Order: sequence, then structure tokens, then C-alpha cells
Amino acid sequence: MSRVYNFSAGPAVLPEEVLKEAADEMLDYKGCGMSVMEMSHRSKVYDEIIKEAEQDLRDLLSIPDNYKVLFLQGGASQQFAAVPMNLMKNKKAGYILTGQWAKKAFAEAKLYGEAVELASSADKTFSYIPDCSDLPITDDMDYVYICENNTIYGTKYKTLPNTKGRLLVSDVSSCFLSEPMDVTKYGVVYGGVQKNVGPAGVVIDIIREDLITDEVLPGTPTMLKWKTQSDNDSLYNTPPCYGIYICGKVFKWIRKNGGLAGMKQRNEEKAKVLYDFLDSSKLFKGTVVKEDRSLMNVPFVTGNEELDKKFVASATEKGFVNLKGHRTVGGMRASIYNAMPKEGVEKLVEFMSDFEKQNG
Ligand SMILES: *Cc1c(COP(=O)(O)O)cnc(C)c1O
Repeated sequence: MSRVYNFSAGPAVLPEEVLKEAADEMLDYKGCGMSVMEMSHRSKVYDEIIKEAEQDLRDLLSIPDNYKVLFLQGGASQQFAAVPMNLMKNKKAGYILTGQWAKKAFAEAKLYGEAVELASSADKTFSYIPDCSDLPITDDMDYVYICENNTIYGTKYKTLPNTKGRLLVSDVSSCFLSEPMDVTKYGVVYGGVQKNVGPAGVVIDIIREDLITDEVLPGTPTMLKWKTQSDNDSLYNTPPCYGIYICGKVFKWIRKNGGLAGMKQRNEEKAKVLYDFLDSSKLFKGTVVKEDRSLMNVPFVTGNEELDKKFVASATEKGFVNLKGHRTVGGMRASIYNAMPKEGVEKLVEFMSDFEKQNG
């Protein structure tokens, strides 16, 4: 068996320890003679798995009691619709457009009400986070929406926008559990788990309790109504059982490795290795303004498409895979989530440095 260094933006690398544990438990989960994939979601054994996963997540993020944690299906994209359906009482909300995922959420919200563009960084290919200190937010907006870490463009909010008292809703898919976060600053936080936390298909919602009501937009499907899911502790129907089980294991792995403070330190160290190299390189260039750089997704280019292609191909040969940039940006992107070891980033930089000597 040989494992590659997987720089995929998602589904992405998971801790090897977690995968091994899951393999060990594949045929017989803790003596019950079956796989977690095969057991009833109403069984006592599974109840313990999902309850423990929730508790570990609550401990990691210090989630206050007045916030609900939901494990749902449909990925982050499903929540693009669920957010307006559950929150648009005035049928109006403000969106900050910092990339593809924010734009998709914005387009979806427009199906249900008046979605207002508050700011955008489209003018410079989303390479920065706009100034959010004094946005044209009005009192009739039900919420202000952000995508906190922009997976494709590699930017991250270092300070949250001034929402002028309006509710903040944040898609944290690609920075979830990568560093500490103050949940009380948000009304709703949600993230697809396939970036930092687990297998694709699961989305985790953390929602302030008073926002979970029967007052949803007419026509909201039962499954998309947060109240349905909350009243049934994420077990209204069959949840993505196996995915949640793996998330639970990742939570434990994070706890064992210093919690979110530990993740932040690891992630800062890793990102520094790569950004320092990019800043000193004559061939490779980071595409994001320094102050808004993501710790998770690092896009870079050589400025020559042919050379980019050659780089990606020779990197793949050497076991550094999934470095091709998103089709809308081109170039390269290294996603260095929690589970990417520092060694992987160091070896990538070594390889980049060699490539530069040969091609510079
Ligand atoms: C990947 C991603 C999504 C989409 O997630 P799905 O689970 O595929 O719906 C949404 N937002 C962000 C920030 C992402 O990185």
C-alpha cells in the first residue's frame, strides 16, 4: 500500500488513523457483529455513535446550550435553499459575494426572496475579501450571508463583517474546525464535511435555537425545515449513518491532537511553509492578497499555462496529487486541510523548488 499526498479541495484527505480505525471496525463494530453501515439508525449502538459525535463537536467548539447541532444530508449546497426557506421572514437578505459558493447561495436565495448584493470582490477575480465595516445593510434584512473561507479562490475572512445587528449566516465548509471559532457571533453556521471533517454528503448545521421555528416560507419541504430535523435530533429519516460515524472519529482525532487551538497552530505552520516559499519564488506566485490568505486553500500560478500543466503532471508523477486549480481560476491550488501532515507541505515545497531550478 502506498498513500499519496492528496491536495484535493474536496472530498479531501482524512487522518490515516481514522481510516485505519474504520477499517478495523468495518466487519464488526465493537462486538455487535455488523458494520456501522448495516445497523439500524434507531439502535442503541448507533444512538451512542451520533450522541457522542455531537458531544465531541460541542466540546471542540464550546457550543452553547442554546444552539442546536444538526447532522443533515444534501451537502452544503442543500443549505443554500434551506437558509432562505427557514430565515426569510421579511423575504430580504444581504449577501457578500466572495466567490463561486457565495454566488451560488446568492442565486438560490433569489428564488425565494429579495437577495441583495452587499459587496463583491468579483472585480479582481475574488482575490481579496471586501471591506465589510460599513455595508448597506438595512433593518428589514433577515440575515447577512457570507462564505467564510473561499475554497476556490483561497481567501478567508480574518474579521467578521459588521452586520449592523442583523443575523450572521456563514458557510464554513472549507474552514470548519481548522481553528477556534466563536459560535455565539453567528445565527447559523454550516459546513459540508468533505473538506475537513468526513465523507461527502453530510452537512453539519449549528443553529441558534430561537431561529428554529414553524414560521418557514410556504412550500418548504418537510425535510428542509430545520424544525423537523431538530425535533427529531437529526433522525427524522435515515441519516447518513456511516458518514456521521466517520465525522465522530475525526472529532476525536482533533481532540487528541490539541483541539482547535492545536489545529490552528498546525495549520499556521503548514501554511507558512508554503506561503513563505511562494513569496520568495521567482517562478510561482500566490494569487491572493496577503492579508486575506486562507490557511486551507492555497492557489498559485507560474503565469504560463503550459508550465502550469507541466508542473501538475510532474507533481502527480511524484505522488503530489490533485494540485490542478479550479477550472474557473486555472493554475494550481494546494488544499492543506487539517489532515494534511506538515511533512506533505514540506515535501511539496521541496519539489516546487526543484521544479523552479529546472524550469525557471
Ligand atoms: C465544497 C463547498 C460547498 C459545496 O459542498 P457540497 O457538499 O458539494 O454541496 C459549499 N461551500 C463551500 C465553501 C465549499 O467549499
